[in-house]
Amino acid sequence: MNWTLVGASTIAAQYMIDAIRAVGGGKIRHVISGSADHAATYAKHHGIPFAGTDLDQALADPEVAAVYISSTNEKHFAQAMAAIRAGKHVLCEKPLAMTPQDAREMVLAAEAAGVVFATNHHLRCAGSHQAIRDVIKAGRIGRVLSLRIHHAVELPGNLQTWRINAAGSGGGVIPDITVHDADVVRFLTGEDPVRVTAMMAASGMGQGVEDSAMSVWALPSGAMVMSHESFTHPFAGTGIEVHGTEGSIFARDVMTQRPIGSVELVTGAGRDAVPFPDHNLYEYGVRRFVEATRGQGTPAATGWDGVHSLTIALAVREAAETGQTVTIASPGAA
Ligand code: NDP
Repeated sequence: MNWTLVGASTIAAQYMIDAIRAVGGGKIRHVISGSADHAATYAKHHGIPFAGTDLDQALADPEVAAVYISSTNEKHFAQAMAAIRAGKHVLCEKPLAMTPQDAREMVLAAEAAGVVFATNHHLRCAGSHQAIRDVIKAGRIGRVLSLRIHHAVELPGNLQTWRINAAGSGGGVIPDITVHDADVVRFLTGEDPVRVTAMMAASGMGQGVEDSAMSVWALPSGAMVMSHESFTHPFAGTGIEVHGTEGSIFARDVMTQRPIGSVELVTGAGRDAVPFPDHNLYEYGVRRFVEATRGQGTPAATGWDGVHSLTIALAVREAAETGQTVTIASPGAA
């Protein structure tokens, strides 16, 4: 499959270019950036034949079937809509858009155009997360009572740009990390939170945007979620705990881009390591996307998954801004 990259980004350079090329002989033909110089340098470095600033020109290339969008968040909507209009399949970075309404419009447009539209939520592609879900689904912890999400990290220096100072580009830890945690909770439990309460702070890095957030979510089953995201915690480590009536799951270092970490199941019978496959998260996501474009299955995270995760993340921000508990209305299909 031939691809166009929209956004000459770090995530594409670090993970997605390799992932695209690793799946079924995928080739990248174009990279589009807001800066011609940046696009040219990036293309040369990554061996991409065409570089430029004209998205419509790249979209007119009939050889290209798929577009990967990893520009800053405020650009996703217009770029995705242009790609959909051009009949391309779209793999879009999270958060899909600046508002759930825009995200919904993107997904509906893709459905109307008959193209595949997916969200690049990588965590549900991890073997560790899939193993946790399997343990829950198999009933090994009984009825789920609560989840604790530990996702307070230190934002690497090279990413301390728009994320920490540009609200208009979608900066802030809530659109950046809470959106992933929302997807993780949905993936693990199969439930959509219905109410959230939250606080947020700028704790040393955020300039006009939050760099830390803590929130509590209610799931329809009655289970509760406690979620913590930050850009300012160098040594906190990441993890998920899922506690049930018959057991608890402790997963350490699993909120990450690499297939690392550990998962343990604790029940009355004792404490056991839960094995999981260590496949590349991003290759897994690209593979599921490519298969979906061939009519085989669905993307790992669909467009609707991206609509839901954004809806939840922005409800967390609204709850933190207002000090009120926010009720989350379903934004549409699951
Ligand atoms: P970057 O800051 O690396 O890149 C974002 C944009 O900034 C680029 O697309 C580019 O704009 C511009 N840019 C970056 N470097 C330069 C430069 N040297 N000169 C000129 N312009 C530059 O962002 P990330 O890669 O961290 O994030 C991009 C998107 O991917 C975001 O939506 C983010 O939320 C998402 N993301 C997802 C992850 C995941 O695991 N799913 C992980 C990390 C990010 P232009 O578009 O004009 O080329």
